[in-house]
Amino acid sequence: MKLRHVAIAAGVLLALQGCERAPVRTTVYRQPQEQQQPAAQAPAAQAPAPSAAAPTPPPHEAITMAVPGDAAGVEMLSHRTLRLPVQGVPASALVDTYSQSRGTHPHEAIDILAPRGTPVVAVDDGTIVKLFNSKPGGITVYEFDPDGRLSYYYAHLDRYAEGLHEGMQVKRGDLLGYVGSTGNADARTPHLHFAVFKLGPEKRWWEGTPVNPYSALRDAEPAGTVTASR
Ligand SMILES: [Zn+2]
Repeated sequence: MKLRHVAIAAGVLLALQGCERAPVRTTVYRQPQEQQQPAAQAPAAQAPAPSAAAPTPPPHEAITMAVPGDAAGVEMLSHRTLRLPVQGVPASALVDTYSQSRGTHPHEAIDILAPRGTPVVAVDDGTIVKLFNSKPGGITVYEFDPDGRLSYYYAHLDRYAEGLHEGMQVKRGDLLGYVGSTGNADARTPHLHFAVFKLGPEKRWWEGTPVNPYSALRDAEPAGTVTASR
């Protein structure tokens, strides 16, 4: 194992203390926890009541929870041509933290450690549906795939790419933002919290079934050299 990968693995363990759990439930419903008036495309009348503020997960050892993720979603994802979301981090460095515990919750996402400011790119072609600043996730991006069946969630960004906006069409590899530690991430461990959700028929950005992206990301293209999006 290369030294760099050892460092990344160690960093992943550190990240467990402060990492956000995506604003999601294991089942169908999810919503950023501190919450929010859903945007124009999200009728407030249909939005559930806010839940309690996100707790800070206590320090603990990583525990694998029984959350394999949605099999149909994994199948859908396997048919997409994906690009790795963090420049300079190869597939071989990824760690499957999807089923680890974050306090009382399963993680249901992959953490990818990288220095603050490292470019984060779109894993797939699609549409930027929501730019959202949440207490747990910090500066986040929700991107839907071209068919509107999967949502890609990028959290703890340091900042957005210049010009990024809702409704924007992106191609895989387009710059979305930069790795950071906004939200409840530990400032000493900047990382991208990356999650995938299978959307329901109403295609709401805050609602979906968690999908483990690990196996698909292992097959993804390297992020390569990033060019700024429009
Ligand atoms: Zn995470």
